[in-house]
Amino acid sequence: MGATGPKRVVREPGEATRKVRFGPFELGGDFVVIAGPCALESPEQVERAAQAVKASGAHALRGGAFKPRTSPYSFQGLGEPGLRLLSEAGRRHRMPIVSEVLDVTQIPTMLEYVDVLQVGARNMQNFALLRALSKIDRPVLLKRGFGATIEEWMLAAEYLLDGGNEQVVLCERGIRSFDTTLRNTLDLAGMAWVKQRVKVPVIVDPSHSTGLATLVTPMALAAAVAGADGLLVEVHPAPEQALCDGAQALTPDAFEALMKGLAGVLAATGRRLAEVRPLSAVGGTR
Ligand code: PEP
Ligand code: MN
Repeated sequence: MGATGPKRVVREPGEATRKVRFGPFELGGDFVVIAGPCALESPEQVERAAQAVKASGAHALRGGAFKPRTSPYSFQGLGEPGLRLLSEAGRRHRMPIVSEVLDVTQIPTMLEYVDVLQVGARNMQNFALLRALSKIDRPVLLKRGFGATIEEWMLAAEYLLDGGNEQVVLCERGIRSFDTTLRNTLDLAGMAWVKQRVKVPVIVDPSHSTGLATLVTPMALAAAVAGADGLLVEVHPAPEQALCDGAQALTPDAFEALMKGLAGVLAATGRRLAEVRPLSAVGGTR
């Protein structure tokens, strides 16, 4: 790919996937599921979501406190109080937590609360943010930009690795194409291509990549078969009341069915879900 192309993120022949630890789990080995609402909304919503995803076997809890919304008039997230709710729910239910960082200035606050910092699709080429995150000692979940080529996505990861942060997870979340029927186009083949070439774990977000709850489960199962290391899935206790992304949120019952389906699909391909262990068993990041 040339002198300016991806290099550190590329797997050497015979090299195994580098494991990225968050809490008691390792991404890059057995299959890991990160689940929770799009946005953190209220103490009750966070607690119900955390309780539901934990009961079904999720490994980590997600939820956005700083939301990158297309319209400035949409709900922008609870900010730091939301991170506090997420962190408390993570401790209560013994799950590491993942949340999105929108801006360099938020990094110190994020580090107080979260185990994994998510870089959203809209920020994939925010190079100042990537450079700053390359200097922290915490995993970064890097989503593919919806207009980004695979090489651009790999080069964004390169900023993190080159700056010194090796704890990188890539996440395919759908791209924009000429067809606007669905919210995005899930590039599953692109994910599988990347997975075969990079040394960091690669996961799939079947929620943003489809935009429709009815498509989340089939695409999640397909991602597992295609070789993804895990999933990032939106789950809301009452999707019809969600302040953000309700149409793509799974109900707790649908999520439970997804987890059962995953166990079967993974077994059929010689893989398995990571064993769920309490945060204290190995020592969380926090
Ligand atoms: C999200 O995970 O809620 C999110 C905003 O995702 P993306 O950056 O992929 O749109
Ligand atoms: Mn969302």
